[in-house]
Amino acid sequence: MVRLIGALLRFAIEPAFIELKAALLAYLLASATWSAAAVAFAGFLFIVSVPNAVAIFEGTKSLWSIYWIVHNSEKNSIRTADVIPNEVLATEYGYLHRAFRFGPFAKNAGNMTILYDSTGRLMDYQCGFNMFGNSYLFIASDLSMKTMPVLQKYLMLHEIAHGSMLGGVIWVGAKWVILSGVVACVFGLAVARLSWFGGASIALTLLVAFVFSRKVVVESAAETFADGYALTHIARESPELAMALIRKLLERIVDSNSFTSQYDRLINKSRVANLAGYLNRLERGISVEKFAGHRPTNWPHYASACLLFLWIYLNADIHRPATGLLATVFALLVILTIFARNQAVRKMLTLDMAIQKMLGESHHAI
Ligand SMILES: [Zn+2]
Repeated sequence: MVRLIGALLRFAIEPAFIELKAALLAYLLASATWSAAAVAFAGFLFIVSVPNAVAIFEGTKSLWSIYWIVHNSEKNSIRTADVIPNEVLATEYGYLHRAFRFGPFAKNAGNMTILYDSTGRLMDYQCGFNMFGNSYLFIASDLSMKTMPVLQKYLMLHEIAHGSMLGGVIWVGAKWVILSGVVACVFGLAVARLSWFGGASIALTLLVAFVFSRKVVVESAAETFADGYALTHIARESPELAMALIRKLLERIVDSNSFTSQYDRLINKSRVANLAGYLNRLERGISVEKFAGHRPTNWPHYASACLLFLWIYLNADIHRPATGLLATVFALLVILTIFARNQAVRKMLTLDMAIQKMLGESHHAI
């Protein structure tokens, strides 16, 4: 019981969907009826099912791009350099998503296949990450992680970070931010009288949702996270190597600033601040193991969630007959989400099979 309450509390204060959670809780507390509990429960199911569906959809999208690269390359040119098994991803690379895989799709999935172009034309580091299936990572050579130069190792780890649960959530999260903000506002309008305070809460919530789902904010967060992840791994082996690497990266970024776009310069600004933070700690001999680096904060989400909570709690109109309708809408949304998720899973399995087949053919040709 205590553990259940603890888990519920942790779920409630977690930043994902905080606005919608606040709105649902305010309505539940204000009306304190069984029908309000039904609405809150349907809303809770919606909050749980959406991230799962979005993650699978994004994973399928990333497999598409891997499929096209392999499909459009010269026959037999894309080769497998290495396969990182599921267990190693979980233990050594902190891939938390292993715990989220269940059901019939989980059986033989979850490995990361490292690919390279043997013609040397494709030099990009690109990750096709799949939470519920197999993932793929393109690197520039067939060297293994142990033998590759530190810069290559950094690029590879940086991509692995984009594919990890925490790194992947940054990309996927922009969609939740919009959904949470908009659904919470619509919900508030349906259950509470609109006051000037309510109007201000809605305005702030939408503004925060808009700002935090901007590509530049999301990409800054994703890049700084991936840099920090790679540096932590490299520093674990050798802090000196990590320091030399950061100095080289900083130099590169400063050099590139004279010819990159305004957009890239904005991203670079947060990357530089982040890298400098890591360098500073390493130079002073402090561990970077738990260092969060330079990240955008979550407090604007919590601020708008508090305002929404107060508005709905103080102005909830419990006599409105909309309760049944609200529960139905949430239930329908959940069913739609599950349907979309199943479609994406089917597509994902087909794509994965097609990629494996193309790679298998090139393997036999060697
Ligand atoms: Zn990156």
